[in-house]
Amino acid sequence: MKESKFYEKLGNQQVKCGLCNHHCQLSIGGVGICGIRQNIGGKLYSLNYGRLITEAVDPVEKKPLFHFLPGTLTYSIATIGCNFHCDNCHNWQISQESKKTRKQENKLLLPGYDVTAEEIVKRAIESDCRSISYTYTEPTIFAEFAIDCMRQAKKKGLKNSWVSNGYMSKKCLEAILPYLDAINVDLKFFDDNLYVKNCGARLQPVLDNLKFLAKRKNVDLEITTLLIPGLTDLDNQPLKIAEFIAKELSVDIPWHISRFSPEISYKMQNGKTTPDKLIDEVYKIGKKAGLKYVYVGNVWGDERENTYCPKCQQPVIKRLGYEIQRFDKNGCCAHCHYQLPLKIN
Ligand SMILES: [Zn+2]
Repeated sequence: MKESKFYEKLGNQQVKCGLCNHHCQLSIGGVGICGIRQNIGGKLYSLNYGRLITEAVDPVEKKPLFHFLPGTLTYSIATIGCNFHCDNCHNWQISQESKKTRKQENKLLLPGYDVTAEEIVKRAIESDCRSISYTYTEPTIFAEFAIDCMRQAKKKGLKNSWVSNGYMSKKCLEAILPYLDAINVDLKFFDDNLYVKNCGARLQPVLDNLKFLAKRKNVDLEITTLLIPGLTDLDNQPLKIAEFIAKELSVDIPWHISRFSPEISYKMQNGKTTPDKLIDEVYKIGKKAGLKYVYVGNVWGDERENTYCPKCQQPVIKRLGYEIQRFDKNGCCAHCHYQLPLKIN
């Protein structure tokens, strides 16, 4: 438990959290939407500082990050909790369920185990990882611990990547930027109502953060859209998302369109798996919008997982699952020498 670095006192012992765009206002005893920040005695505390629920060594491609240190391992960490409650969540056991348990039992101590930032960096180095990923649940909600890890990681020559819903406050974003090398942000829908209904959040802050991040040339920004049949394909949303990326951000930003698996979801077990036809359609929409790098996700052995040179169309990185084969020289196409926007060092 640690006092939050992102809040203000409002008087009457009320506090306002400044970490994400919910800006929760909490009276004494109140817990934020994320489930892990509580007003205790008129101060806001992060209950999950240094208290992990999981850690693992992953291929960086699994995040997914395709243009960032391809073919390397990343040390992934998470605490419980999330500031969204998406019906489609694939990690709901740690993002949502433990919130409920804690509420029922009214416990201060969160599920998990204690660890220091130094120890995480040490484990990452010992596991041959080139980076640390703040992932599985929303890293915004464990920002203080993530920032401490990120700072230590930089000192030891490791990179840092976030896998995020993009709902952090400007203050949080500015606090992580000096240490951030890559970020994959979900752009789930292009409809405010769907964000409200499915995730308990709003669309606009996510778009604003994406615009802000797209201008940061030293950060590899990638975007993921989970294709949920009957939701994501409503009202031309894939087209609106693709055009937003192409026109408002950059055609160089990778767009991952990924297959939805209802059986592992939080509240959509009766939903449908994304049909191939929808994946094909959305892939074409992305390409037609002018995006140079559209990738399909959660689909085994698909050639649309490869990176192709936008100039000569030859493969530059071939992917089969998490196995990769590279045909570039310092990020340039081996065939025509076109420079791709890859962060390879
Ligand atoms: Zn080429």
